Amino acid sequence: MSDDPKPFRLLPRLDDTNEYFWTSGAEGVLRFLRCQDCGTWIHPWSPRCPSCLSKNLAPEAVAGDATVHAFTINHQPWIPGLDPPYVIAIVELPEQTGLRLTTGIVGIEPDAVQIGMKVRVVFDNYEDVWLPFFAPAA
Ligand SMILES: [Zn+2]
Repeated sequence: MSDDPKPFRLLPRLDDTNEYFWTSGAEGVLRFLRCQDCGTWIHPWSPRCPSCLSKNLAPEAVAGDATVHAFTINHQPWIPGLDPPYVIAIVELPEQTGLRLTTGIVGIEPDAVQIGMKVRVVFDNYEDVWLPFFAPAA
């Protein structure tokens, strides 16, 4: 829609390996692939469990909490319509050490973001994709 007030986003192309990730926000949850044999969470997608090599994998919901592991404040207008400054972060989920996601931090001034900050997933829906962002936990 031409009067859509949302900023322009580059959207992922959905396929069998990533649809669970990009569409789970429709139900308000974040899902990662999980090994059904040993319980290891897997991100990004892999055809086999890196821990036990099982192919018995299925998407499962996580709680939606995370901690800011690293971040950078982007000041460059790389993408027309996506106005800087904005925060690009790597967040780690409490479900498993090393289960990390590159995302954006929203709902806070970029200068106020800190490593170790508790954040929670929020979704922004574009077409058939729900982009997961993280905002400061209440
Ligand atoms: Zn496994």
